[in-house]
Amino acid sequence: MPADTEVVIVGGGLAGLAAARRLHRSGVPWLLVEATDRLGGRVATDNVDGYLLDRGFQVLNTGYPRLGTLLDVGILDLGYFTSGVLVRRNGTLHRLTHPLRDPIAAPLSASAGVGTLRDRLRLAALAATCAATGVRRLLDAPELTTEQALRRAGLSNRIIEELLRPFLSGVLADRALETSSHVTALIARSFVRGRIGVPAGGMAELPAAVAGPLPRTLLRLGTPVTAVNPGRVRTPDGDIRCRAVLVATDPGTATRLLPSLGPVRTRALTTYYHSVAHPPLDEPILLLDGDRREIVANTVVISRAAPTYAPPGRHLVSTSVAGHTPPPETVVRAELGRLYGCRTDDWEHLTTVNLPAALPAAPPGQGRLRQPVDLGDGVFVAGDHRDSPSIQGALASGWRTGGAIARHLTPRT
Ligand SMILES: Cc1cc2nc3c(=O)[nH]c(=O)nc-3n(C[C@H](O)[C@H](O)[C@H](O)COP(=O)(O)OP(=O)(O)OC[C@H]3O[C@@H](n4cnc5c(N)ncnc54)[C@H](O)[C@@H]3O)c2cc1C
Repeated sequence: MPADTEVVIVGGGLAGLAAARRLHRSGVPWLLVEATDRLGGRVATDNVDGYLLDRGFQVLNTGYPRLGTLLDVGILDLGYFTSGVLVRRNGTLHRLTHPLRDPIAAPLSASAGVGTLRDRLRLAALAATCAATGVRRLLDAPELTTEQALRRAGLSNRIIEELLRPFLSGVLADRALETSSHVTALIARSFVRGRIGVPAGGMAELPAAVAGPLPRTLLRLGTPVTAVNPGRVRTPDGDIRCRAVLVATDPGTATRLLPSLGPVRTRALTTYYHSVAHPPLDEPILLLDGDRREIVANTVVISRAAPTYAPPGRHLVSTSVAGHTPPPETVVRAELGRLYGCRTDDWEHLTTVNLPAALPAAPPGQGRLRQPVDLGDGVFVAGDHRDSPSIQGALASGWRTGGAIARHLTPRT
């Protein structure tokens, strides 16, 4: 363990890696210490008997603004999802197409039963505005809860309950839609501007690509930091002295290492993985529950997007549930039978991934989604809890904080 370096980065998730990339580009000496034996934090993939099981269903949105700074998305070999969603309502499957990719079909395609025609036209107009409006202007809007903002935008109770609540509960892990409207507006902007997909090698390929240009010798794995003080970081191997320290851990650990941050509430997501011989859908499209049963947030045949997610002859179904009390697998499987409209008794349950602290809660009060990162005395903090609860939020936070540290160490005279 080197005795001294300019910057110690605690945590090798997307935020810590993005910060390392920024410092590396600026020529500032740094060392990253990661508690576990791998990089990527909450973005991880387990390869189990030929199935790629992401540690919780996650997708990459190509519309995230910070992605392009850090990697060429092309190298991830993304398998894309079909734009739009399917909604099961009153026993029928309804398709809502992406309002910007197919603006004529979008409002009419679901005329049989999700929301009203006025809702669908309104949604298409909102999506167009969201896509065309710059981030700064979107953040000038009054900050409300997501539910208040949807109602203020003139959307009816029906479209909120049949489409938006189920969809957003999977994205934000927040059925109550209490998340800041600023967070939701930026995530929605990326959804309408980009496409969603998963890398052929699993979501873990994303942090691997961000870490790609970094020297391996500066990435210390298996080193849990136990205490952080100005100019000093404590590890089981001894103290590391530095001029600046960046805590880029999950929010719970950040609060333990830096008690002045105060507690960060988190939201839970659970993913159920099933292996099937005969996929219930022949396309990779998110299926939502429009019947307000509030069990499943979304489900998808993920191996339809990326066939590498399942071994030959099998398919992988990924199902997300939001909330701190996930139902038993048998309940979810029965619900999947109703949603897909098929028998599920021969589905093989591979595993359930339960993450009580999947995302930081981001209630109104996020402002311009740039929480302070410079805590003084050369101590900095980064992570999705400082920007927005997403891959974009983690990358943007790390990049921004890396810049702040470089400026702190080399102030302009
Ligand atoms: C189930 C799930 C689904 C999601 N879906 C999406 C999605 O579809 N789209 C999207 O944009 N975002 C999604 N997200 C959110 C996204 O994955 C996170 O916002 C992002 O990965 C957070 O990155 P981070 O670097 O801030 O934190 P983390 O990924 O938590 O990284 C923190 C790192 O710090 C390390 N660490 C902790 N304690 C210590 C210590 N004491 N010493 C040293 N190292 C330590 C950890 O091991 C970890 O590697 C999802 C998250 C989950 C869990």
